[in-house]
Amino acid sequence: MIATVLIAAAAHLAAATETVKCVYDLVNEDFADGTFDKIEAVNYGVCRTRQGRSLHIGDWKTMRSFRSGDELTLTVRKDDSATGGRSSNMQNEAKAMYELNGEDTYTVLESLTSTSAKARPESRTTDARSVLVIRMIYDDSSPDYCPMESCVKDGMYDSSTTLGSGYLGTPVTGTTASVISESSYGSLTFDKGQTTFLDVRMEKTSPTSGCPTYEEMWHADVKAEQQFGVEANTFRHREYFVPLVFGRCSFSGLANVGCQNPATQAARVGRCWSIIRGTHPTLRAHEFGHNFGLFHGGLDPDDYGDQISVMGNDRAFRAYTAPDRDFLGWIPSEFVRLMSPQTVSYRFTLHALHELPQPGSGQFTTVKFWCDSCQSQGVTGGHVYLSFLTPQGHYSQMSSLQGNSQYQYANKVYVHLQRRSGSTDYGRGTARLAVLGNGGHSCPRLRRPLDSCVPPGWRHRARRRQHSRTR
Ligand SMILES: [Zn+2]
Repeated sequence: MIATVLIAAAAHLAAATETVKCVYDLVNEDFADGTFDKIEAVNYGVCRTRQGRSLHIGDWKTMRSFRSGDELTLTVRKDDSATGGRSSNMQNEAKAMYELNGEDTYTVLESLTSTSAKARPESRTTDARSVLVIRMIYDDSSPDYCPMESCVKDGMYDSSTTLGSGYLGTPVTGTTASVISESSYGSLTFDKGQTTFLDVRMEKTSPTSGCPTYEEMWHADVKAEQQFGVEANTFRHREYFVPLVFGRCSFSGLANVGCQNPATQAARVGRCWSIIRGTHPTLRAHEFGHNFGLFHGGLDPDDYGDQISVMGNDRAFRAYTAPDRDFLGWIPSEFVRLMSPQTVSYRFTLHALHELPQPGSGQFTTVKFWCDSCQSQGVTGGHVYLSFLTPQGHYSQMSSLQGNSQYQYANKVYVHLQRRSGSTDYGRGTARLAVLGNGGHSCPRLRRPLDSCVPPGWRHRARRRQHSRTR
């Protein structure tokens, strides 16, 4: 009797284990409620086979151990439905794609990477990226909230809305491409000449059940080739606009993460994608930020909520924060000052974040130091960053950002924690610790002395820096 049970159990185990070849994505789903306030994000791994099967990986450590866009050979075991994956705990029905599709999650037993992104070459040249932008036009619905000319194209490159003045007083218009160009100091641009915009006729009705993102992207790619002769997998990024009612999907934006990190990966095509279902000004830049490898800009205990960060919310124009720029290799090293955590007092000058200081000026874009004891979102350790924001460039309208009556965002020094990541491709998100005015030295949001959110000694540094600030 006992022997029979054991044999049966062994047979069951063998049957449940399989080896598949697939292309991996670490997916971030940005959920929104009815008023499009960001409320939560869900992360999971998806390995997609050539036959169109999705294997979902819910284990946090495993999902971050593979690189988005890599081709893998995985030996996997299906999870018990009772324990598999991460169930959404949303109040308002927002559910992850795989939950809506009723798909299984898997535990990875063995893995082999067959093709992976090459390392980025050392030389610092402008990374001009191609992008294919597709509006999915169904027989019964389309993304009519964002018309091709006035919203999709102008929102990417050609807005007529002037936000304010930027580098050398030149007017800044708010577009997805301009947010990225300014934040990267011109080192990463989306290239209008390498951009193709298509209204793709899907030649069927829109999905009504589940959340068939991969299926519909694949279908759109096939139709793009049939209707326009455009090969979707020859672009660095693919961006898809879907109708507001799209199956039962809950996301406002969805993207694979770290598929083209500008700091660590050489150029490769056909790996990055994002899906847009909304019109907020920096939603598209936010999803591209995920493609680059970023996670969210939050105010503890919330994952989102740092209003000055593109990765914190998408409701108004602004740019990427200093810790995110540094993670992506956008700030030349001469303008990043790494302090020893033991330094008790030091005087330095921060230049406003929207433009680089003059070489040789002795000014810095950001000053950072390692903090072993800093905690945020269950992560211990990370770099603390200081940066200075003025209402210029894409921050010109920062006074209109939510929370301005509390913080008075303009002309302040910002203190951010970049959580320890353990991966060069994927960040772990940032938490804004403080917004400091002249002589400021506390964590206003936490209503505690700054010493309680950053290490002892830092308060004095903050005071000295405040006094030496020049602009
Ligand atoms: Zn997001």
